[in-house]
Amino acid sequence: MKIYLDGRLVDKNEAYVSVFDHGLLYGDGVFEGIRTYDGLVFRLKEHIDRLYKSADAIELKMPMTKIEMIEAVIKTLKVNKLKNAYIRLVVTRGVGDLGLDPRKCRKPTIFIITDKIALYPKEYYQKGLEIVTATTKRNLVQALDPRIKSLNYLNNILAKIDAIKSGTEEAIMLTYDDHVAECTGDNIFVVKDCELATPPVDIGALEGITRDAVINLAKRTDIPFYEKLLKMENVYAADEVFLTGTAAEIIPVVKIDRRKIGEGRPGEVTLGLMEEFKKLTKTDGVRYAM
Ligand code: PMP
Repeated sequence: MKIYLDGRLVDKNEAYVSVFDHGLLYGDGVFEGIRTYDGLVFRLKEHIDRLYKSADAIELKMPMTKIEMIEAVIKTLKVNKLKNAYIRLVVTRGVGDLGLDPRKCRKPTIFIITDKIALYPKEYYQKGLEIVTATTKRNLVQALDPRIKSLNYLNNILAKIDAIKSGTEEAIMLTYDDHVAECTGDNIFVVKDCELATPPVDIGALEGITRDAVINLAKRTDIPFYEKLLKMENVYAADEVFLTGTAAEIIPVVKIDRRKIGEGRPGEVTLGLMEEFKKLTKTDGVRYAM
């Protein structure tokens, strides 16, 4: 396996970064998780745009253009002969000293890993997922805005530990004032009386690329859609709940905090959107040939 590292394609066994890299020392950096479907990088331009927005938000100056970044991603996929892959694109502040000062980091470190995709087991998509509410609250937007896809994922990891301790795979994260924000690695949608809703991202959620695709699909297929503040009682009372993310795609949720959601099986609206999303993954992105 070849890894793109600072402009070179190096063997996996030689793909190292320094222990003085501020990505490692402080979680100072940004990243993207991207997916390819049969030689098509799904919504690559949107992912690259979000990466540059995140970099801008932490005042990290990208050393290459968006076009160059897209070319680097494609080059890495091609050299590894991967048509279906998960891509991890990471940009750190770079190598500095042991202090926080980002000015000491002369040059960002960039690496791109392309690997096989690790999905939730198929049965979760058929039967639905069980999740819980995390006791860990979402980071304050005014402290570290969750819209920034930074390397600082400890808030999410603590909530993931809550999920694991409860014997589930995902957890809903609430804002400090108990509004539903998102899950540890996915956005959340609810369906009530055939209307679709998801929390606005400015309360403390990542503006998911899959979230955006689902919102567009809803609009195109005449499903009434609203960005809405949600409390847990709204989620418990929903007819359907599902999560969205690059790795998870659209995954139905049938139990939350041991309460059954709707009929306790994936609902009509969710299943319809899953079908439509599958079609989108064949067309919506940047195509590459081996
Ligand atoms: N929220 C969080 C916290 C995430 O890390 C992710 C990505 N795994 C998502 C939502 C979903 O975003 P996307 O659809 O762009 O993968």
